[in-house]
Order: sequence, then structure tokens, then C-alpha cells
Amino acid sequence: MMEWAEASLEKVESTRAARLNQSAPPITDDESQALIREYHPDYVGNERKIHVGPNADSDPFPMELADLLESDSPVPAGFQPNVDIETDVLILGGGGAGVSAALALEDSGLQVHLATKLRLGDSNTIMAEGGIQAALGPQDSTRRHFADGYVGGHGKNDTELLRLLCEGGPAGIEWLNRLGTLFDRNDDGGFRLRSGGGTSTPRVLACRDYTGLEIMRVLKNAVTAGNTHLLEHHSAVELTDDGGDRVTGAVLWNSQSKTLVTVAARAVVLATGGSGQLRFQGYPTSNHLGATGDGLILAYRQGCSLVFPGSHQYHPSGSSYPEALVGQLVTESIRGAGAQLLNVNGERFIDEMTYRDVVAAAIIREVMAGRGVETPTGRRGVWLDTPLIELAKGKGTLAKQFPGLIHRFQRYHIDPASQPILIYPTLHYQNGGIRIDRECRTERVGLWAAGEVTGGIHGTNRLMGNSLLDIIVFGRRVGQGLRQALPERGSVTLTRLKHYREALSGLPHRPQTTAPQLFPAVSGLKFDLKPHAASTPEANASGQSFNVSEPPDPFAPRG
Ligand SMILES: Cc1cc2nc3c(=O)[nH]c(=O)nc-3n(C[C@H](O)[C@H](O)[C@H](O)COP(=O)(O)OP(=O)(O)OC[C@H]3O[C@@H](n4cnc5c(N)ncnc54)[C@H](O)[C@@H]3O)c2cc1C
Repeated sequence: MMEWAEASLEKVESTRAARLNQSAPPITDDESQALIREYHPDYVGNERKIHVGPNADSDPFPMELADLLESDSPVPAGFQPNVDIETDVLILGGGGAGVSAALALEDSGLQVHLATKLRLGDSNTIMAEGGIQAALGPQDSTRRHFADGYVGGHGKNDTELLRLLCEGGPAGIEWLNRLGTLFDRNDDGGFRLRSGGGTSTPRVLACRDYTGLEIMRVLKNAVTAGNTHLLEHHSAVELTDDGGDRVTGAVLWNSQSKTLVTVAARAVVLATGGSGQLRFQGYPTSNHLGATGDGLILAYRQGCSLVFPGSHQYHPSGSSYPEALVGQLVTESIRGAGAQLLNVNGERFIDEMTYRDVVAAAIIREVMAGRGVETPTGRRGVWLDTPLIELAKGKGTLAKQFPGLIHRFQRYHIDPASQPILIYPTLHYQNGGIRIDRECRTERVGLWAAGEVTGGIHGTNRLMGNSLLDIIVFGRRVGQGLRQALPERGSVTLTRLKHYREALSGLPHRPQTTAPQLFPAVSGLKFDLKPHAASTPEANASGQSFNVSEPPDPFAPRG
């Protein structure tokens, strides 16, 4: 029901048949670059340099991330990291990268603990819709996959990492298939390959429009059946070091017992995912609750530099209406299947299948130029003409290929098969992140990283389907590498934190927040450790106890 947009919807409907076989508006490379520079959120200010740590006074950071990197740790100054758990490998993060790393360590004889903020699988991985890339098509090759990713990443990719990503595609799919992932298939039984923005040949494998859910299902099954010790509701709040350059474990916050737990490990793997919930510039996000950039902060305090810290992906099609779905993703595969983007006048304004940053910038331009559609709550967006898919491919196509989308919108009395969807860019993916080498080693001995928390593979713009592949390829690569080269155990101190705090104290202006924040501000969940008054039942194994602010009581009388 979108009566408020009746006039615009009439224009969309009246031009639909004529648009069916129309080719996309052409755009040159120079025009694309100009569009990005003028309208993409990465380029429109609201950034600043930071003044501590390895990236000090060099790259621009989004304000919100800069503030967190210049914030104090929540770990109280007097906290002693007395070891509660000893293990060989501590993996931080229970999404696709973390679980893939754990699975690659099965049967290695090493003790592996996987700690995750929420429940196992609560992650961006589980939310992925559109699919995963792998060069499996008849016209395809690793080189072609590489070329697409490189052009899409504006040539800023770490070419060695990108090569490993593309080479790992077919084996990654074979592994997922063996674990039981139910990829969509053609009538002949072969994998069904779709197109994605920037793919020069069909290369995206999908499980309808719930690819991440299906992949995470099999990964969860496999890891829970194995030997990994799972620590759910355990968030990493600091990394420990040996007093020198080596990472030796982590301090975790057990949000159920409300205690701090110190884990000593020979190797720590950061797989904590992205930072969409930091909602840069007030953008809505497609990300899950735990995506607050924690891994960036922990690694940075240890002296690891960040690559492209100011580069983020604003996915062109986040829902803009109804209010309950704002920011949620409408997969790019919808555009791949033929849905066109239209402004308030029912006009196309961009090639829907060009690169995500270009499409997002074009949408923002239309809205800024007054050619957007305004919702009753004052949000703006453009139309994604989903009924065009039914017209082109037959009735029922959307329900068959995109059941998740239909289900989500029908709950709000919008049927994407007969009505277009209103969309606007949503903060979706962290292109940059922790610098790693080809073995996923960070710049600190004892610390590895994989998945969305890392940067470099995708340059400054990731192609659809390359992140799910990244977490499988590099998650497994970490695990395989650790089998061969595990450092010896070191002492467990918070010396690096002490030095970072000293550096922070020299800043003229310091944010009055602590980081990592663990939960987004909008959630109302506040994590703020303060030393507790002496008598408390909530003492941790190290004999230290803390207060934590609880979420607001929803039943409390309102003033
Ligand atoms: C809606 C949506 C759709 C997407 N669709 C696609 C797609 O179709 N194709 C594609 O290739 N990519 C897609 N992506 C991107 C892709 O899903 C992610 O980039 C990728 O899955 C990230 O995997 P990860 O393991 O690195 O991080 P995640 O899957 O996010 O896992 C990170 C884990 O770390 C935990 N964690 C965070 N902080 C801490 C902490 N302090 N301590 C302990 N644990 C912590 C989190 O709770 C989570 O379990 C999509 C993303 C979203 C949000």
C-alpha cells in the first residue's frame, strides 16, 4: 500500500512495457569517477585523520571510527590478565571466516577455542542474500574473475590476495558442496550461475536469496559436530601481548556471567567482521547487531595498520520503505534479474549493473537533485521496478527465485511482484581493514586475521559474491597455515594497552567513550565496565568484578 506515491507509481507503470527491452543509460569511466567523487559518501567529508597508532596523521577515517580508535579501552586500568583458559588457537568471531578457520584446524591435534559475541552464526554471513562468486562457467577463468575484481576495486586491490581469492573459488565451492550446501542448480544438475554487478560472465552461485543462511547452516553443523570449544556470548574486549611485539591471547567479556575471562593462546585469529553498525554519517545499515568494528580497534591498539580505513560500501539497494525495513538489503541479484532503477518521474538514470559505488552515487544524485520519492516519514529513495522481472520472465519468477524478499515485503502489504520497491543506499560493507599478508598474518606475531575485518583484497569497492568467497578461502587458509607454523606460548600482559593509553593521554581532545563498544548505540545496549564495589557475587576467575549498564527497561514508566 503506497497511496502516498500514487502519482509517481502511475508513471512507473505506464512506462514499464516500453522499458522492457530498453538498454541501460550509457556511462563512461570518466563519468563514473566524477559521479563517485561528487556523491559517494566516502568522498563527501565527515572524515578526519587520527593522531595515534600506525595510521596516525595519514589516511582519513570516518569520524565515528576515528573517535573509537582514539577512545580508551573498557578494561579497567588495574585489571590483571590472570589466565583463565589456555589454548593453542583462539578464534574471535563466529561468522563464516571464524568457523571456516576452526574447521580447517579439525584433526590438527591443536586445541581450538572459538569465542563469539552473540550466538554461533549471528553474523553478517548469515544475512548474505545474493550469492558467492567462483570461476566455474564455460566462458570463465581465474584470470577473468581476477580482472573483474580488479577493475571493480578501482585497481587498488592487493593483487596477490586477489589472485589467491580467485584461484580458491572452485575449491571453496567444492568444499561447501561436500559439507552439504544446497546451491541452486540447472535442470541438468550443474550449478546455476547468475550475473552480478561487475561480473563479465555469469559467476555467482546462490541458494535462492538466502545464500548466507544456507552456507552458515552447514558451517555451524560441521563445527558443532567437531572438536572446537565454543564460547558463545564471549566478546573480545582487548588483546594481550608478551610485553613486546607478540600477541598472546585476549580478554573476553562473558555477557551472561558478566565477568572478564582471560584466554592465553599461541595464535589469535581475528574474524570479527565489519563495522556497519557504526552507521557512518547517520546512514542506515544492512549489518547484524554485532558489526561494530571491534576487531579493527583491538588490532590497531596492538600496532596493526589499517588499509583503506575510509573506504566503505554503501549498497545501492537498501529498503527505504516501510520504516520497519529501512536499511535492510534488497539483493543485487534483483537487478541482475532485470529490475530497473527509476526516479520519481519513472525515468532510468543509471546502468543498474555497473559497479555498486557508481550506482549508489547515482541514486544519491537523483535524490539530491529533487528527483527522488519522499515517504510519509520524510525518507527519500528511488524505485526498483521489481514487477518488470515478472513481465520479462513470467509470473511467479520472483516468488521462485527470491522467496525471502517476497516474504519480507508482504508482511507490510507490499507485493514486489506487482509493486516496485523504494530503495536508497545502505551502509553495507567495510572495504578496508587490517593489513594481512598472503598467509593472513597481521603485522604482529601471533595475530592472524580473515574475512571482512581485513582490507586490501577488494580494493576500494568489493564485487557482489566476492566476500562470501573471501571468508571461505581466507578463513580456511588461516587454519591450514596454523597447522604448519604455530608460535610458542608467551607471557600474558597488557603492556601494549598501557603504551596506547600513554599515547592517548597526549591528545589535546579525547573522545569520552570506550571502545570496542560491542553493541550499536541504537540498540540501547551499553557496555561500560567499571570496577565494582567490593562485595559482589559476580567475580571473575581472576577475582575481579565489574558493573555493566544493562539495556533500558522497556516496561519502565516513561517521563
Ligand atoms: C545483508 C547482507 C547481505 C550480504 N550479501 C552478500 C552476498 O550475497 N555475497 C557476498 O559475497 N557477501 C555478502 N555480504 C557480505 C558478507 O556476508 C560478509 O562480508 C561476510 O559474510 C563477513 O564474514 P565474516 O566472517 O568476516 O564476518 P561475520 O559473518 O560478520 O562474522 C563476524 C563474527 O564476529 C563476531 N564478533 C564481532 N565482534 C566480536 C568481538 N568483539 N568478540 C567476539 N566476536 C565478535 C560477530 O558476532 C560475528 O559472529 C552481505 C552482507 C550483509 C550484511
